[in-house]
Amino acid sequence: MSANETSRRPFIAGNWKMHKTAGEAAAYIARLKELLPSPLDADVAVAPTFVALPAALAAAQGSPIGIAAQNVFWEKSGAFTGEVSTAMLEDLGVTWVILGHSERRQYFGETDETVGRRLRAVLDGRMGPIVCVGERLEEREAGRTWEVLTAQLAGALDGVSPDEAGRLTLAYEPVWAIGTGRTATPEVAQEAHAFLRQELVKRFDKPIANSIRILYGGSVKPENAAGLLTLPDIDGALVGGASLEAEVFAKIIDFKGA
Ligand code: PEP
Repeated sequence: MSANETSRRPFIAGNWKMHKTAGEAAAYIARLKELLPSPLDADVAVAPTFVALPAALAAAQGSPIGIAAQNVFWEKSGAFTGEVSTAMLEDLGVTWVILGHSERRQYFGETDETVGRRLRAVLDGRMGPIVCVGERLEEREAGRTWEVLTAQLAGALDGVSPDEAGRLTLAYEPVWAIGTGRTATPEVAQEAHAFLRQELVKRFDKPIANSIRILYGGSVKPENAAGLLTLPDIDGALVGGASLEAEVFAKIIDFKGA
């Protein structure tokens, strides 16, 4: 039996990016509640935009569907136009927050250092961080994947204590697989996840590393979910495009039954 079968509950999170109004978010969640497999063998979350969070939280109340934010700023309050703090999200009841998504890195100037600052703010509060790492195509082709992942981990995790590490979720999202329809093969994904797990062992210790869930992200869909999510070091999925329809996302959540 592999480690994830014994100790790590799968975690399936949907990243809606800049999709869905508040009303659409509520309707989706009402539908997803009806579609969730029973028993539910996974943690489930969706990440609406900031403005749809209150409606999503209200719709999800009393259900096992967790609500995630797509980002957060590190300062507590102040003159930071357009930003949102951890306290504001916690006050709403948000439980998870995605950090360092490649689209934030690519389009909004996010760096390893700013991901680290955001992670510090989240760990100083109550939410669960989902920290995204992943190499670009040219980095993989240049044989730099491990170097890039190591630097991204260092930027995020330097200063994270072993006690705090238990609250982490990592997401390995090779940039060349996000929104491209080009999924990493199970072998490529497992190799990267095993590498990240080893880095966590070096940074913390083996029991802690074995307790941290590492999600795969990059064109996950119902047809490829089981092949990826049953691998030893893949503990769930961060799903973009295929999370936008409740029926499709529910099939990924039910990957064991598929
Ligand atoms: C993502 O946005 O994190 C993602 C993995 O997107 P997609 O599933 O569409 O590739």
